Amino acid sequence: MKFSTRVIHAGQVPDPSTGAIMTPVYLTSTYVQKSPGTHQGFEYSRTGNPTRSALEQNLASLEMAKHGLCFASGLAATDAVLKLFQSGDHVVSSDDLYGGSHRIFTQVFQQFGMQFDFVDASSSQKVADAIQENTRMVWLETPTNPLLKITDIAEISKICREKSILLVVDNTFATPCLQQPIALGADIVLHSTTKYLGGHSDVVGGALVTSDDDLHQRLAFIQNASGAIPGPLDCFLTLRGVKTLDVRMERHCSNADQIARWLNDDPRVDRVYFPGLEDHPGHEVANRQMSAPGGMVSFVLVGDTEQEARETVSRTKIFALAESLGGVESLIEHPVSMTHGAIPPEVRKAAGLSDSLIRLSVGIEDVGDLQEDLDAAIG
Ligand SMILES: *Cc1c(COP(=O)(O)O)cnc(C)c1O
Repeated sequence: MKFSTRVIHAGQVPDPSTGAIMTPVYLTSTYVQKSPGTHQGFEYSRTGNPTRSALEQNLASLEMAKHGLCFASGLAATDAVLKLFQSGDHVVSSDDLYGGSHRIFTQVFQQFGMQFDFVDASSSQKVADAIQENTRMVWLETPTNPLLKITDIAEISKICREKSILLVVDNTFATPCLQQPIALGADIVLHSTTKYLGGHSDVVGGALVTSDDDLHQRLAFIQNASGAIPGPLDCFLTLRGVKTLDVRMERHCSNADQIARWLNDDPRVDRVYFPGLEDHPGHEVANRQMSAPGGMVSFVLVGDTEQEARETVSRTKIFALAESLGGVESLIEHPVSMTHGAIPPEVRKAAGLSDSLIRLSVGIEDVGDLQEDLDAAIG
């Protein structure tokens, strides 16, 4: 089945007892057994719940992988991956990372003895050079947040495979609609389903997908042992959101492409970060590993002052000033004072994240309205 069919049907069958076409929300904590130990696949809802199972199967199918596991948030999924490791283990990651991922690495797991290095992962050589004797995992985001740098997943996966290092790709920005990292050699794909997969800004969730049976078993053990699971209603909302992923992404991508090109031609704008632009350093790799460059656009105004950026993001009327991304409605934000405030200033500077950078999550509204809104706000 093709992607646009799988988003609607994978993991879901009409309810056998009623014929209900939508997966029921199984609001139950436990399951009745006929005799001790004879259950029908479900014992207790931390371990497994049919609504969650449907979502887990659906997401695995979208990533062309065997197994999916859902969590209470993207960071709960991140937490589960990090629990595969031990004190003394080393991780190489990108220097332009989701702020919360940077925070859980350096402020939670570092205190348990794990070690982290952050490099410009748009250079495979820099990733290779950062690998040490005790490196156990490479953790990538591509496109990155908020600079939209591109990492060559296939190239990094070759480096990791040679040294038996786990490769994890946070695929939140691209979604499986645009990029499928497992097929490019990643071992685990992570999602904040809060973003494009849910798509309607009404639910927080996370997921891990893998085709490796052993890894899946270990992650499922951690999911149950640590217990950071999503509730069945959250799973239902995410499942419902995913049904329109394919059509939503088409509009997100075409709107973002038009906005990025318009900003790029505007004399008030100094620099646009968007992998779809021909002069973006990752343009070629993005073309190779993604079917479209996505719905996120970042830019810096001429003058590059933080004050001007803060005023601009406060002036839009359709673009809502808010953290998060990937919903149907357009959002604008100032990463340095919002999503990336947790990253120390010297780390931000080293990564090239300007204090005046503005990030857009381009929604699926009329693109002319969006353009007019930005035009007035830039002033
Ligand atoms: C939001 C986000 C996360 C964290 O997900 P939550 O659902 O907010 O916990 C991780 N990675 C990326 C790229 C994100 O945008």
